[in-house]
Amino acid sequence: MISHRQLFQQYLAPTSDEPLAIEIVRAEGVYLYGPGGEKYLDLISGISVSNLGHCHPHINEAVEAQLKKYSHVMVYGEMIQAPQVKLAEALASRLPDNLSSTYFVNSGSEATEGAVKLAKRYTGRANVVAFENAYHGSTQGALSLIGDESYRQNYRPLIPGHKHLPFNDMEALSEIDRDCACVMLETIPAEAGVRIPSLAFMQALRQKCSESGALLILDEVQTGMGRTGKLFAFEHFDIVPDILTLAKAFGGGLPLGAFLASPELMQVFTCNPVLGHITTFGGNAISCAAGLAAFEYLTETRLYETVEEKALYFRSLLVHEKISEIRNKGLLMALDLKDPVYCKRVIDLCIEKGLFLDWFLFAPHCIRIAPPLIIEEGDIEKACKIILESLDEAAA
Ligand code: PMP
Repeated sequence: MISHRQLFQQYLAPTSDEPLAIEIVRAEGVYLYGPGGEKYLDLISGISVSNLGHCHPHINEAVEAQLKKYSHVMVYGEMIQAPQVKLAEALASRLPDNLSSTYFVNSGSEATEGAVKLAKRYTGRANVVAFENAYHGSTQGALSLIGDESYRQNYRPLIPGHKHLPFNDMEALSEIDRDCACVMLETIPAEAGVRIPSLAFMQALRQKCSESGALLILDEVQTGMGRTGKLFAFEHFDIVPDILTLAKAFGGGLPLGAFLASPELMQVFTCNPVLGHITTFGGNAISCAAGLAAFEYLTETRLYETVEEKALYFRSLLVHEKISEIRNKGLLMALDLKDPVYCKRVIDLCIEKGLFLDWFLFAPHCIRIAPPLIIEEGDIEKACKIILESLDEAAA
């Protein structure tokens, strides 16, 4: 019989010459399981998705209950669907007043597209500022915002009027002017290898946007939903964006994204022409039921308040001469090994030992650590022991 591996190789469009190609048949809590009884401790969460762990019972119950009622009834924005309205209300109750209107989409890339369209339409301006080493998605518009030339170069012409500034550079902010519709920034740039902006930079950015009338869009696709120790990472910097984008963990493991802004901003999509932004599946009822269950669990248990302590525990155990630097905000963490070849060897060895790790798109010399936020002490110890052993073995 043809194996799943062969089917994978023959029929799935590849994204790399060296995919992980590890089969997973089941996942629960912080563990992934293979068909032959293999067991992997998951330090990646499907790239910052499974913040409550895999197969969370609260989420699964909500999904099953909604599945019995309906899954899809109409394109986004027409019918009143309980999971959507309840999730939007729950978000509004935890966010500043100017982020009380939610537009649901399916993914992070779509949230980027919608947010930038909204900013252009509201301001009547064309230019967009993003940052070097930023990642906001792979669709054509989001690609124009990617801060890495190797990803942009094959898809020209890109959207004109996009400028990339050096990250965390106060002087560069003078480039934000009255022709600029919006400035888009990951609150903590993840794929750049977890780069923490200074408080002064974030506050100056907020001020510059307000002065110039450019809308500030913060991309919290990776940093939202408690990952950094606050519900949303912008809370660390005492600023509020004009538009917020969410995806990944937002759907509790199902595909869901959103961009949020004030009702006044969102109004622009309703006229000239009507239906200025459309999505068939955005805010899918089952995805929203999962997202709502995840949000309720996260906020009721205040799980995000345990994140900093867990991150400190990782940091205290991960002491090794090959780790040049650890950068983290909560459980979004980069172990900088400075050497991409060595880094890959360490990651491969960890996976062989049953610890699932990864690297970053624009920082292949760094190990990514982004476990489910529910991870406990014993598993943190186990993970760090494997990492330390692998750092030694890969160096030998
Ligand atoms: N923004 C950020 C910060 C991301 O990390 C990602 C995905 N890695 C996206 C946007 C795009 O999300 P998606 O893959 O759901 O389109």
